[in-house]
Amino acid sequence: MMAGLMMMIMTTGCTKQTSPLYEGMEFADERMERGVKQAAALWREEDGTKEEFQAFVDAHYAKTEEERLALFESLSRIMEKLNESADMLTVELLKPTQLMNCGEPTEVDWIMSGYSASAHMMDDLFANKVAFITILNFPYYSLEEKNTLGTQWTRQQWAEARLGDVFTERVPANVQALLAQTLANAENYIADYNICMDKLRTEDGRQLFPDGMKLLSHWNLRDELKVDYDAPEKQEMIYQVMQRIVRQEIPEEVINNDNVIWYPYSNTVTSDHIPGEREADVRYQKILDIFHAMQQMDPYCPNKPNAIIRNFEGDIEIPAEEVERLFVELLSSEQVRIVAQQIKARLGRELRPYDIWFDGFKARSGMNEDQLSEQTRQLYPNPLAYEKKIASMLTNLGFQKENAEEIARHIVVEPARGSGHAWPCVGHNEPARLRTRIAADGMDYKGYNIAVHEMGHNVEEVISLYKMDYYMLRGIPNTGFTETSAFLFQHRDLQLLGYGRQEMDQEAVYDAFWGMYEIMGVSLVDMHVWQWLYAHPKASAADLRKATLEIAAEVWNNYFEPVLGEKDCILLAIYSHMVNCPMYLPNYPIGHIVQFQLEEALAGTSPAEWAEKYERWYRLGRLTPNVWMQQAVDGELSVQPVLRRIQSN
Ligand SMILES: [Zn+2]
Repeated sequence: MMAGLMMMIMTTGCTKQTSPLYEGMEFADERMERGVKQAAALWREEDGTKEEFQAFVDAHYAKTEEERLALFESLSRIMEKLNESADMLTVELLKPTQLMNCGEPTEVDWIMSGYSASAHMMDDLFANKVAFITILNFPYYSLEEKNTLGTQWTRQQWAEARLGDVFTERVPANVQALLAQTLANAENYIADYNICMDKLRTEDGRQLFPDGMKLLSHWNLRDELKVDYDAPEKQEMIYQVMQRIVRQEIPEEVINNDNVIWYPYSNTVTSDHIPGEREADVRYQKILDIFHAMQQMDPYCPNKPNAIIRNFEGDIEIPAEEVERLFVELLSSEQVRIVAQQIKARLGRELRPYDIWFDGFKARSGMNEDQLSEQTRQLYPNPLAYEKKIASMLTNLGFQKENAEEIARHIVVEPARGSGHAWPCVGHNEPARLRTRIAADGMDYKGYNIAVHEMGHNVEEVISLYKMDYYMLRGIPNTGFTETSAFLFQHRDLQLLGYGRQEMDQEAVYDAFWGMYEIMGVSLVDMHVWQWLYAHPKASAADLRKATLEIAAEVWNNYFEPVLGEKDCILLAIYSHMVNCPMYLPNYPIGHIVQFQLEEALAGTSPAEWAEKYERWYRLGRLTPNVWMQQAVDGELSVQPVLRRIQSN
């Protein structure tokens, strides 16, 4: 189906072609030929005639290397200023809906939360022809070319290739704005999807969760499940709630509403046990809206003609087939049974589906979470208290004092309305932002653990911008790689509380493995849902719900049912990312795979060596994943290292 769709778009795009715009032109070299042909592919009638195109090339193709380098410098500076100012505006506009300290968001704040400051930028840069000047002189190289030619490139050449990635498609502003709006709608839906746990009742009328407990789906529900291993009744109830959400059987009136009692087993409401009115496929309509918006973009992206290709070959820079192959290799490995056996032995019972979130491997499982929370509440009563401790946390990891202080200076901590997140700095006048949810009585351990994760993002963001040799190389290969830094930090959360150095011990290996197993399953569901959407473009929200349940059950039956039981379980479809951030989930397991390889390279290092390696890696910048791995650890992306670690025990 994907190949068929691609063919259709390409032939439609070709019907109007007469002789090429560059007919009769002479190319000084391969780069010029590449640049001219790529510029011609995006040139439209309104941009000028064939003669005007050729005159434009004559006027703007750099004649000398000095001219070309000067152009590169100018364009890099322009890119930074455009990115940065658009980002600063977005940050300001989103504050009321994203942060707690900006008052209650008004209706117009919610509307503006879907506004994209850069939606018209591409149009403008094509209109004033800066885009064409860029393409002409700094053409695009495909993923395959980057992975082969790129192994021999200098830093300058890599930076030029990244400049060549900026203008590869020409999507009209209204199409981009529509996508931004549908994503924001889904985000707002997810950010308010709370379950009032104190209103849940067992069938015999008992309340299992404390008064006032309100949990955001799916993050808080999952995290509560993780800490309820001494209370199986609570876990079973959360599992039941999750299934009601995925199947869209949840009564609409119990969502984010603490006025209604809900019996999730019989799915009735109020003390009279009345059947509630179900939430009518809103969850799936949000996904469908995003799909339709993505589809509208397809014809404008000749090199990457659907959302799946744009996500994997474009954003992640690993083809979807390769990602799936890596995931299936781990999911179907014998090691799954070995680790499942470990969990079973520890629990002393048969496994249940929600044991995909078994949390007993971490070092902290031996520690009392209430005690840890007491400590974190005292240390971090508010965001500022956390912000002030960042430098000393970095020296704890091995960073030199001045270096740690310099990095910390570029990070601000802010109180999040939804779940915690990191907001990167994209220009040299911006800080990286750590957003965290802190209760009135301070940061509990769960919140602290997430904050440390987000701080890992922020530190990478600061190093890969402020310590980067080329602006065009800022960042890391893909989002999964940003998670590696977050994991490296999160994995050392107790060390940062003063409990001694943490390394990847056997418990951590099991933990990482089980985490990969779980999220690879969730990712496969997400990926297969999008393949299904492109194969069924006319589907309704109800069709999508049915298909998602089938896909989730199929992935479950293939890779999870053999060790966790319960045929046709649909739990893997609970992740909120599937609703507001399509195909983002595969980034996490990719991040886990890389993180595991990096952890191996860090094993046995002194604190100073640790910080040195860390900084060297995150100064490599936005190479492709393959090339980055070669330069960082002299290897390729592989699940074999983690599989070997489990086998050898
Ligand atoms: Zn993260």
